[in-house]
Amino acid sequence: MKRVYNFSPGPAVLPTSVLEQARDELLSWQGSGMSVMEVSHRGPRFTEFALRSEAAFRDLLDIPEHYEVLFLQGGATLQFAAVPLNLAGPGDTADYVNTGNWSKKAAGEAKRYLNVNVVADGADLHYESIPDPATWRVSDDAKYLHLAVNETVVGVEFHDVPSVSDAPLAADMSSTILSRPMDVSRYGVIYAGAQKNIGPAGITVVIVREDLLDRARQETPSVINYRVMADAESMSNTPPTFAWYVAGLVFEWIKKEGGLAVMGERNRRKAGKIYAAIDASSFYNNPVDPACRSWMNIPFMLSAPELDAVFLRESEEADLLNLKGHRLVGGMRASIYNAMPEAGVDALLKFMTEFEARHG
Ligand SMILES: *Cc1c(COP(=O)(O)O)cnc(C)c1O
Repeated sequence: MKRVYNFSPGPAVLPTSVLEQARDELLSWQGSGMSVMEVSHRGPRFTEFALRSEAAFRDLLDIPEHYEVLFLQGGATLQFAAVPLNLAGPGDTADYVNTGNWSKKAAGEAKRYLNVNVVADGADLHYESIPDPATWRVSDDAKYLHLAVNETVVGVEFHDVPSVSDAPLAADMSSTILSRPMDVSRYGVIYAGAQKNIGPAGITVVIVREDLLDRARQETPSVINYRVMADAESMSNTPPTFAWYVAGLVFEWIKKEGGLAVMGERNRRKAGKIYAAIDASSFYNNPVDPACRSWMNIPFMLSAPELDAVFLRESEEADLLNLKGHRLVGGMRASIYNAMPEAGVDALLKFMTEFEARHG
């Protein structure tokens, strides 16, 4: 069956072997005569699977014992509200770093619940770089410091999250989690919607340090209350079982591939090839400061924007899909998450070279 190279920013490409396994066991999961979508989330098969998937995820990220892993719903966007509701009261202050539209949205949502102090604003740099951490104006009394580790739209990523505050770090890692090894112990809360690097849309992973579990406001809905969900093994209500199941298959796939060190090397190489080609060409351009160029989402402009539509049509004919840039940025964007094989990157580069030769 034909599979294209899908450069979508999310929902994004999944490993073919994961989709094949899901297909093969669709009608009878674990010999049950039922699909995984049809079994009780409280039955032995699913609860055992849920524990195994959490163990695999912990193993991949080397998550310390004193962190809880939650599998929630509502996407990263609901966490924009869940973080302030769980970590701070109405009159409290939280620090937010603005490095692109996702961190800006997170701050916008948080403003409904507390005082948001924008410690640094990347808009001043057209989101083409990260403001120097030495200039961040952190507040003394912030309940947490929020940042988006990878900005999916503008392609700006922290390759080294700075330590600038004693407040717990709350990080949106939707489009970078599992792309390489990381030190979870530096964070208070990490959250990620699944549909970039984890699995299908519909499940959201939250990693939260135990000492932050008991700060939720009384009115926090229980399905996003970290303490309630930690105590209920993420099942205070029905979890999105199918999305969770596919995420579990993805965790096993990453382990089989060699884990996050292997993912990290691959991702560094994939992104490096694309940036090198863009920088070597006068036809393509990526404006982002090389120190914070994303490994996952690579926007690029054509020197002749009137050729954008031609580029998109011809790339699609070459089975390279979803390269259209975000409307806020324009041009093109290649999202190259874990499941994008290196062969897909090579095919894109070959196409870009040929396109430039024809039209440049
Ligand atoms: C996609 C994305 C979101 C939004 O995720 P939803 O699951 O749609 O709520 C938030 N932050 C980042 C960094 C993203 O890439």
